[in-house]
Amino acid sequence: MQSSLSDKLFAEAVQHIPGGVNSPVRAWKAVGATPRFIQRARGSTVVDVDGNVFIDYVGSWGPMILGHAQPQVLRAVQQALRDGTSFGAPTPREVEIARLLTAAIPSMERVRLVSTGTEASMTALRLARAFTSRQKTLKFDGCYHGHSDSLLVRAGSGAMTFGVPTSPGVSAAVAADTIVARYNDTATVIRVFREVGDQIASVIVEPVAGNMGVVPPAPGFLELLRDQTRLHGALLIFDEVITGFRLRYGGVQDMYGVRPDLTCLGKIVGGGLPLAAVGGRAEVMDQLAPEGAVYQAGTLSGNPLAVAAGLETLRHLTKPGVYERLEELGRRFHDGLEEVLRQRRVRACINRVGSMLTLFFGVDAVADADGARACDTELYARFFRAMLAHGIYLPPSAFEALFISLAHSEADIDQTVQAAAAALDSL
Ligand code: PMP
Repeated sequence: MQSSLSDKLFAEAVQHIPGGVNSPVRAWKAVGATPRFIQRARGSTVVDVDGNVFIDYVGSWGPMILGHAQPQVLRAVQQALRDGTSFGAPTPREVEIARLLTAAIPSMERVRLVSTGTEASMTALRLARAFTSRQKTLKFDGCYHGHSDSLLVRAGSGAMTFGVPTSPGVSAAVAADTIVARYNDTATVIRVFREVGDQIASVIVEPVAGNMGVVPPAPGFLELLRDQTRLHGALLIFDEVITGFRLRYGGVQDMYGVRPDLTCLGKIVGGGLPLAAVGGRAEVMDQLAPEGAVYQAGTLSGNPLAVAAGLETLRHLTKPGVYERLEELGRRFHDGLEEVLRQRRVRACINRVGSMLTLFFGVDAVADADGARACDTELYARFFRAMLAHGIYLPPSAFEALFISLAHSEADIDQTVQAAAAALDSL
């Protein structure tokens, strides 16, 4: 078989770039394939360097809620571009986006712009440690908050839940300051707070999880986190890097009516350019330098092009009916897929919140990371490859959310459901 241009590029990429990619999941290892190199994208589709067109459900892992190459976003970036790409000095649009973010998410009285979600969550943890004069963080198995040292941690074995590094290079001492509990497990949260509550600076959580596949919070889970943190003097951090402006304009905190102390944003706020944010209570945020003593900085923070793309994207999301439309498309996808699975008696569970969805094969329900890990990843890998052959670009891992955008049409969804039927029949 003739090798594709993607295959050739990947063969060269691995000579120069570790694993051939600049972020691990892009290497498609989990689905036993070599990645397609993307040439361009528009609306709901991406086109690879060999000219293959795919309906895309990765959406750059979340940012592309308006679809790819949205004309108004491109225009806003082009306009900003004419004035220069970076100044390392304040710009008017930063004030505008800060005003917009704090109005959209009332728990964010102050906001600082950064370039990545990793920086946002790392800064949130540092702020919480400084504010409480405590060291420990409670996180949840299966939630991902970027790759800063203290968050690259998993649960230790045995009854105690102090973290151990998930990556070489993370010091055991740093990892030990992170406690890991099961998502949706309220009893463990209560126990951890009873045992070491006076040492916990913050609890960080994806309020709707997207990084073990989609897992919604059980009723009362977020409320319990709010109650326990308040009771024990810890801060509650919602990592809304995926969910902010994805599920609702005001984020998950607006959906569930739970107000965190700090919020991390990313992805959609930059409209596909590198922009993220951390925000929250003024008295916590005002600890940041130069107002306060907690150090945080960034050469490209609040980059003019990224802010222009973010502003245009957020403005679009204030239009009436936008989230109803995403829900409608999500439901159509969900219902169609469910029917295809039912007809074929394929055991699977679909977790969906709005326009985020994960199909877990081989399990009936997934409420935490153990549940997600029980799914049939081998079947997902075969399904992924079959879908690709039918022109559908799904997340290249069983533990990721797929994202529907406003650029997807009913016809796209129906074509995808038909492809799923054909793909399952071919396995
Ligand atoms: N938090 C969450 C919930 C995320 O999904 C991610 C990235 N997928 C991050 C933080 C880290 O963001 P970044 O990749 O921009 O560093």
